[in-house]
Amino acid sequence: MDKRTKYFLDEESIPTQWYNIQADLPEPLPPVLHPGTGQPVGPADLAPLFPMELIKQEVSTERWIDIPEVVRDIYRLWRPTTLYRAHRLEKALDTPAKIFYKYEGTSPPGSHKPNTAVAQVYYNKQEGINRITTETGAGQWGSSLCFGGSFFDVEIKVYMVAISYHQKPYRRIMMETWGGTCVPSPSPDTNSGRAMLEKDPDCPGSLGLAISEAVEDAGTRDDTHYSLGSVLNHVLLHQTIIGLETKKQLEMADAYPDIIVGCIGGGSNYAGMFLPFVKDKIDGTKPDLRIVNVEPASCPTVTKGLYAYDFGDVAGLTPLLKMHTLGHEFIPPPVHAGGLRYHGMAPIICHLHKLGLVEARAEHQLGTFEAGVQFARTEGIISAPETDHAIRATIDEALKCKETGEAKTILLAHSGHGHFDMAAYEAYLAGKLEDYAYPEEAIKKALANLPKTG
Ligand SMILES: *Cc1c(COP(=O)(O)O)cnc(C)c1O
Repeated sequence: MDKRTKYFLDEESIPTQWYNIQADLPEPLPPVLHPGTGQPVGPADLAPLFPMELIKQEVSTERWIDIPEVVRDIYRLWRPTTLYRAHRLEKALDTPAKIFYKYEGTSPPGSHKPNTAVAQVYYNKQEGINRITTETGAGQWGSSLCFGGSFFDVEIKVYMVAISYHQKPYRRIMMETWGGTCVPSPSPDTNSGRAMLEKDPDCPGSLGLAISEAVEDAGTRDDTHYSLGSVLNHVLLHQTIIGLETKKQLEMADAYPDIIVGCIGGGSNYAGMFLPFVKDKIDGTKPDLRIVNVEPASCPTVTKGLYAYDFGDVAGLTPLLKMHTLGHEFIPPPVHAGGLRYHGMAPIICHLHKLGLVEARAEHQLGTFEAGVQFARTEGIISAPETDHAIRATIDEALKCKETGEAKTILLAHSGHGHFDMAAYEAYLAGKLEDYAYPEEAIKKALANLPKTG
């Protein structure tokens, strides 16, 4: 029996270029629109918020984009990450399926997010920017950007979704340790924050609202740019380092996936994994590859949302993105997977979904923790509640293989560890974890208020 469990790459094998799916799309992405004019936005519209290099990457159709040497040197601190074969989970499930997982939890902040955080701070610093604002859900993105800021002496101000700020104080302390500042959102520091606090002083916050605050802060100060940890094309581009490494590692294992599974909040970790593989689907070499996006049933953006133009934030400050959306005013129930509580989705994923190249499914909170605990008790890793969604779907696909007797190869994008989510695991283990149904009424209401275009 093949007992090999870990597939390592040497530091010298860290990719030197990111892969840009825009070079290979069968149809180009729909344009991003200016909310005032309804016309496509140009670089000048985005320049107050983003450095020009990132604006160029956002619309680039070059297939390969060089990773700056400084960024690649910082990647050496934790990359390449390890690809694992989940022998013990396979055995517990008694499945003929082969399960591999690529684990991003070994980065210092504990997830995939520093892959783009370091690059984004670098490009801002190159343009002379010394202060960056951002939002964070569960705290992984905020801590990753603060981690990135520490290498380049850039001041980071983080607006953290209030529910997570209170549930996860240690994330804030990480941000402060890396030299950043973190406030709960809604905050009294911005107009959008103050307006929401007036309406509802106990507002649990949402990613969309925190984005409003961070964008407003950056838009009203010349010395400040804004940074987004997911959704946008350049973020997904930076994350492709995950899939590029994985391809090399699977070659070492003489394997290619039949099914790739990952969780989607804004879509960055999972797209980072699957984009280099979706290329094989587009060019016809792997037509049967299944790419399964997993989202929470309480925030079912792709499975229940509309594919329409919407704002990225609650206050309507961002350009309009064509994406699956639950409506920018929708505030999701306070599930523990804070990183998946977002009303929209990466336009690239939505476009691929429309083209029939990827699929999506939604999972309930209780089932995801059950899967996460089974993973911890077999593979050892205590996973982020976000990742538990992907683990649920991976286990279900492996159990299907048990029924049919098919020895499929399943690749799980494992986005991070759950060491700051122990209160959630405690609630689950005590049988006290709340489940949340599909919030149909709230979504209907929010979808009635989509912005008008054209
Ligand atoms: C932020 C986060 C997610 C969700 O964000 P994506 O952009 O969809 O990847 C998923 N898992 C972990 C561990 C995260 O930190």
